[in-house]
Amino acid sequence: MRLGRCRTPSNWFCLRATTDRITRITVCTRPFRAQGPRLDIEQIGQKNVVHNYGHGGSGWSLSWGSSGIAVQKALATGERDIAVIGCGALGLTSALLLQRAGAHVTIYAKELPPNVRSSLATGLWTPDSRICLEEHATPSFKQTWQNMARTSFQTYQTFLGLPGNPVEFIDSYVVSDDADTERRHTLPADGRPKFAELQRELINDLIPKSEEYAPGSHPFHDRYMRRNTLMMFNLAAYSRMLMADFIANGGKIEIVEFHTHGEFAALRQRTLINATGYGARALFDDQSITPVRGQLTRLIPQPEINYGLFYKGVSFVPRRDGLVVQAVGENDYYGFDDATTVPDQAEANFAVNTIASLFNDG
Ligand SMILES: Cc1cc2nc3c(=O)[nH]c(=O)nc-3n(C[C@H](O)[C@H](O)[C@H](O)COP(=O)(O)OP(=O)(O)OC[C@H]3O[C@@H](n4cnc5c(N)ncnc54)[C@H](O)[C@@H]3O)c2cc1C
Repeated sequence: MRLGRCRTPSNWFCLRATTDRITRITVCTRPFRAQGPRLDIEQIGQKNVVHNYGHGGSGWSLSWGSSGIAVQKALATGERDIAVIGCGALGLTSALLLQRAGAHVTIYAKELPPNVRSSLATGLWTPDSRICLEEHATPSFKQTWQNMARTSFQTYQTFLGLPGNPVEFIDSYVVSDDADTERRHTLPADGRPKFAELQRELINDLIPKSEEYAPGSHPFHDRYMRRNTLMMFNLAAYSRMLMADFIANGGKIEIVEFHTHGEFAALRQRTLINATGYGARALFDDQSITPVRGQLTRLIPQPEINYGLFYKGVSFVPRRDGLVVQAVGENDYYGFDDATTVPDQAEANFAVNTIASLFNDG
């Protein structure tokens, strides 16, 4: 019953995946753009607006690198009193990087963590998750993406080992009933285009090697299993830490909702970073943002559980701020162009019961 060289069986039989332990079901829309995130600078009236939105399922993962690009553009305008619109993953990292460069920063946002969409993410380092379509992954996009991914990865290393474990590495096990333990990025039969997959090609050196386990050599009986090592964000602790750092550095926050970008004219700052995420769709009438619905089911935390699982299209992530179970479907079109945010109890039960079935049949 041993699994790997460094696991004890007690780590394995205590996951309490039952529907009565569900504490919360949350739904959120990923801000997907076929051509990738928007990072250009636009003149709107008297304002220089640097865009930093549209990161699909990779917003946390690419945040430090993407915001680094936005901050360079904002500082190049010569201004040192800068507004950041939005307080999610991209707004917070933009604001902190601006402060580190010596700027005075005010965040203007409708919502703050934990009430932003970013707080409803899975919490894994997934830098190419729905980041763009393959047909838009040009050599220049790949170079930018690689820089964003490497910068973010390195920055995340500085948050390891801190109180509350904002960031940590976990082992995660892909379990399969057949010999193919690769997560399949199957294409839908209707011929829709493929999403870009960039990690193996461009940052393979950052990905720890996976390890295969033969049937019978692990607790899941005659199934097949592969171990991956993943970086995980405990988003409650992590976003609190980012907020606290921003305030400690003298940052100001104003709660405000902009109904049109024309309202930016009322701000005193001449340079703004627009990190409104999915909100940019309405604010800038940017129909290039497609919502991709994702639902998380939270279970009562179990601090002793430190491994993730993936089985039959369901992922389990051992977040300290609530175990996260999620149906992710057969491919990345799951939830595509679906902006509904009503929780689906049946989907939640299916996700929990699928993970539970790994523990219940032996
Ligand atoms: C189910 C799910 C799982 C995910 N898992 C992961 C993952 O594991 N790893 C990963 O890297 N990414 C993941 N993502 C993607 C990630 O969550 C997003 O890419 C990221 O949250 C986008 O951050 P943001 O700062 O752009 O937007 P948001 O978090 O939406 O923040 C936008 C900010 O702008 C403000 N705002 C918007 N409109 C206005 C307005 N009109 N006026 C004033 N303020 C406004 C909001 O109040 C908020 O403060 C996941 C997404 C989903 C839905």
